[in-house]
Amino acid sequence: MSFILHGLPVSAGIAIGQAHLMSHATLEVSHLVISPRMVEKEVARFDEALLRVRSEFEAMKGGKENAPAEIGAFIDLHAMILSDPELSEVPKQLIRERRCNAEWALVQQMEILVEQFEQIEDPYLRERSYDVRQVVERVVRELVGQPGRAALKAAKGVREENLIVVAHDLAPADVIAFKEHRFASFVTDVGGATSHTAILARGLGIPAVVGLHNARQLIRDKETIIVDGARGVLIVNPDRRVLEEYQLRRSQIELERSKLQRLRTAPSTTLDGVDIDLHANIELPGDVAAALGGGAEGVGLFRTEFLFLGRGDMPTEDELFEAYRKVVKGMDGRPVTIRTFDLGADKNLHPEDVSGDRVHTNPALGLRAIRLSLAEPRMFQTQLRAMLRASKYGKIKLLIPMLSHAHEIDQTLAAIEQAKSSLRGQKIAFDEEIPVGGMIEIPAAALAIGLFLRRLNFLSIGTNDLIQYTLAIDRSDEEVAHLYDPLHPAVLMLLAHTITSAEKCNIPVSVCGELAGDPTLTRLLLGMGLRQFSMHPRQILEVKQRIMQSDFSELAPIVRRMLRLEEPARIREQLERLNA
Ligand code: PEP
Ligand code: MG
Repeated sequence: MSFILHGLPVSAGIAIGQAHLMSHATLEVSHLVISPRMVEKEVARFDEALLRVRSEFEAMKGGKENAPAEIGAFIDLHAMILSDPELSEVPKQLIRERRCNAEWALVQQMEILVEQFEQIEDPYLRERSYDVRQVVERVVRELVGQPGRAALKAAKGVREENLIVVAHDLAPADVIAFKEHRFASFVTDVGGATSHTAILARGLGIPAVVGLHNARQLIRDKETIIVDGARGVLIVNPDRRVLEEYQLRRSQIELERSKLQRLRTAPSTTLDGVDIDLHANIELPGDVAAALGGGAEGVGLFRTEFLFLGRGDMPTEDELFEAYRKVVKGMDGRPVTIRTFDLGADKNLHPEDVSGDRVHTNPALGLRAIRLSLAEPRMFQTQLRAMLRASKYGKIKLLIPMLSHAHEIDQTLAAIEQAKSSLRGQKIAFDEEIPVGGMIEIPAAALAIGLFLRRLNFLSIGTNDLIQYTLAIDRSDEEVAHLYDPLHPAVLMLLAHTITSAEKCNIPVSVCGELAGDPTLTRLLLGMGLRQFSMHPRQILEVKQRIMQSDFSELAPIVRRMLRLEEPARIREQLERLNA
């Protein structure tokens, strides 16, 4: 049966392929290789989780004295499964021998047991595989204390290019793993348009739709799906006519993309001769090729935290240095803006490392980004030293995420000075004049912009967070995604205020949030006076095309008038005129 699902469009393009369903949400656990010194701690964590589930069973039985006998029998069966050495001991061997995290060890062992059960002829015994799954789910829930992350496994015998991943949710750490896979697309039940998961999809250039609510339940494995990433539409089991129509549209899009390639070496200059810098946002050193391929004149944002997400321990200074040096050398003299770790919220190295056992009710407002770096001075010094060491090999700029207070800037500058002086003491060369910039992504920073302009060498506006915090909309929550509005007058005022204030003080300012890569907003930003944009490499040429068709000086008065409007409908109407 053919049916259509609607979600949030997060990454344009058309994909046609077979559904590849991720396993049940709770059993989608992260696959981590733990360090040898963590092994016994991991075994203990596993034992504690078993213990907690066991006492849960006991409590359930205790409270069910008057309940029907079947429930008692059912709990007994689950308690028995839990105590079976196949589930309580073998995973510990796996943790010790393969150094995998407890969740992964348990799920691996579960898969073996389930397969054995499924081969049993007796239907009653065969059905017990469900009980094994249920018991394991309980333990996994204890271990993670939250819904588990997805594990990406390529289906046997099927080419990844033909697969569309259908998941309840994907964490940024999962999507970053897509860089090693070649899935045609992914769709999820939850997630917002500027969540890091969505941003990564755009960076990969694969069509994606999020916020579909129950796609994971409605779609079956191997069903044919069309993903229309620009419209946020999913067509399941399309008929032949629809399929042909989308195949045609897909080839038209490919043709347009290849035509844009002609602009790769053209200068990004407006009709009236104003040069605009177009830089790339990257997550991994391997993205340098895409940045250069897209014609980027530099890296405007290197999101350094992605390189080590989900690996479970902190990278060493040398590992960081090598990664940064690789990017700088790859960019061959072009400027590279490296952002210090923006960990926390939806991006944790290992949930335990940064959050301990606490449950964070508002992680986006918690110990994230520079707040976490300042709270972990050893980790911060390690990163700063690595960045400074890499500055010997090219033009590096340091970018600090999520600043809001003057004292945070002062503390950060002191930390940079400390890293510099330790390197000087060891006679290690670095760029003494390395520029330090701040991200403007909290409304307080945009409003009190003077504090930033006086202390920093450049600014970069992170509109993804600026919108999230201005409008109080969790950027990864699809329930409020309809309220996430880049054209809200308050957002426009903060943007324009930051750009004009920086310009007055001769401090370079760029926009590196998703807005910068949206060609429908290019003229609006130019009209505010913006001359530096940073975006995912795949978006650069389309934005360049728009720049080449625009007149910088004509846009300023139109946008000034637009900024006086408060009614959203009128703002949109004016934007359409601007783009006509
Ligand atoms: C932003 O907030 O706009 C930004 C560029 O940073 P990130 O998306 O990594 O939070
Ligand atoms: Mg941000």
